[in-house]
Amino acid sequence: MSLRAAVYLRQSLDVSEGIDRQRERCLALVDSRNWTLVGEYADNDTSASKERGDGTAWARMLGDFRAGKADVVVATDLDRLVRRLEELIPLTAAGAKVLTLDGEIDLTTADGEFRATMLTGIARFEAKRKSERQTRANEYRRAAGKLFKGGVRLTGYTQDGEEHETEAAVVRRIFEEFVAGGTLRGIAARLSEEGVAPRRAPSVRTGRPRKNNKPAREFASWPPSSVSSILRNPRYAGRATFEKVATGVTGQWTALVDEATFDLVQIKLADPRRKTNQTGTSRKYLGSGLWECYLCHVPVTTTGERYWCRAGGHVARSMRKVDQYVLAVVCARLASPELARAFTPTDDEGVRRLASEAAALRTRIASTEADYDNGLIDGIRLSTSLAKIRAELLRVERERARVSDGSATSDLLGASDPVAFFKGASIDRQRAIISELLTVRLHKALRGSKIFREESVEILWHQPQF
Ligand SMILES: [Zn+2]
Repeated sequence: MSLRAAVYLRQSLDVSEGIDRQRERCLALVDSRNWTLVGEYADNDTSASKERGDGTAWARMLGDFRAGKADVVVATDLDRLVRRLEELIPLTAAGAKVLTLDGEIDLTTADGEFRATMLTGIARFEAKRKSERQTRANEYRRAAGKLFKGGVRLTGYTQDGEEHETEAAVVRRIFEEFVAGGTLRGIAARLSEEGVAPRRAPSVRTGRPRKNNKPAREFASWPPSSVSSILRNPRYAGRATFEKVATGVTGQWTALVDEATFDLVQIKLADPRRKTNQTGTSRKYLGSGLWECYLCHVPVTTTGERYWCRAGGHVARSMRKVDQYVLAVVCARLASPELARAFTPTDDEGVRRLASEAAALRTRIASTEADYDNGLIDGIRLSTSLAKIRAELLRVERERARVSDGSATSDLLGASDPVAFFKGASIDRQRAIISELLTVRLHKALRGSKIFREESVEILWHQPQF
C-alpha cells in the first residue's frame, strides 16, 4: 500500500538541525517506505511562535489533510511537529497518520496508533488543565494585588494597569461630586450633558454592558447604575478584590481615591435616607427593604402583616414580632456606655479626639451635679458651671457631626440619651440608624409555633467590638 506523504519541516532555535537536513532525512524515510510525496510544508520559527493560523505552512497542511489530499505526515521528531501536544488533536482529527523519524509517534501501525491516542488524550487533559490553571492564576493575581491580567479593563486604567488620564479624571470627579452631595442620577445626567461618554453602554434589552465594548451612539449617556458601580468598586481605593469583594490585600496599582473617601462614599451609599430623599416617599414599616432573607440575602418586602422574601419565598415572618425584637435589641445596645467609643471611626483622628472630648465633658457634667448633690457647690455655681460645660459640649458635638459628615449615628451619639433619641426618631431616621449599626437576617419561624424564637432573627452588628 502506498500512502501519500506530507513532510513537515520547522526551523527552530532550540533545535540545531537545519531545514535542509530535516528534509533530507524525512525524504529518505518516505522513500524507504515507498510512499508518494505529495507535499512539503516548512515553517520558520517566527510563525511557529505565534498561533498556527492562516498563512502558516501548518495551516495549509491541515487544510490539505482535511481535503483528503494526503494520508501521513512525516517529521523528524515530535517537538518539531507540534509545540504543544494538544496541537496533535486537529491533525489526527483531520485523519492524518503521523510518523516521526525518532519513532516516538507512529500512527501507521496499530501499536503506534494506540500510543498516539493516549498522547492525544493526555494533550486534551493538559489543555484543559492549562486553561484551569490560567483561570486560577488570574483569580490569584487579582486577589494578590494585581489590577487585572486579561479580561475586562477597569475604567480609569489602561490595559497595563496604568492610569488612563481622561478616564481617571472622570472617576475622580464622580467620587468628588458624590462626596459633595451629588446624587447618582444627578452625576450621571451632568456627565451625559457634558458629552462624557461612558466606556461601555448598556444594551437596550438587558441593561448589561455590551460585549464589544463600543458605546452605541444612542446609548452614549450615563446610566446612574454605572456611576454606582464605579463608586462601589474597592479597586479605585487601591484595594485588591476577589469576586468583587475586597480581599484585604493592598493593590499594587495607583489608587484613584484615598481610602477614607472611599469608605465615606460606602456609608453614604448605604444610607437609606439617600434613597428616601430620591423617591420622596416615606417608609411605613421598619424592616421593609431593610431586613434580609437568611437564604438569598435579598431585602424583604411586606405582604399583609408579614415580611416576605419576594425573591424566593424563603421566609414569611410576623412584622410586629420581628420589629419588636429588633427595636428591643437596638435599644439595649444604645443604652450601653460603650456606645460612643464603639462607633467612633478608628481611622479618623479628628473624630476620635472630638468623641473623647465630648465624653470628658459629659463626665464633668455628671461630677458637677454630684458636687451639688453632696453640698460641695451651691445652686448658682452649679448652673453657671453647667451652662459653660454644656455650651462647650454642644460645640464639640456639632464639630463632630460635621467631621463625621452627618452620618446617621453622629446625631444619635451626640444625644445625651441615645435610647430616647432613637425612640423619638421618625421611622426613616430609625431605619437609617439601624442600617448603619446592624444587618438583620430573617430565618424561618417554626411551623405552627406561636412562640417567637430570638435566634430566628439574626443580628449582625457592623462594629464587632461593640
Ligand atoms: Zn430569600
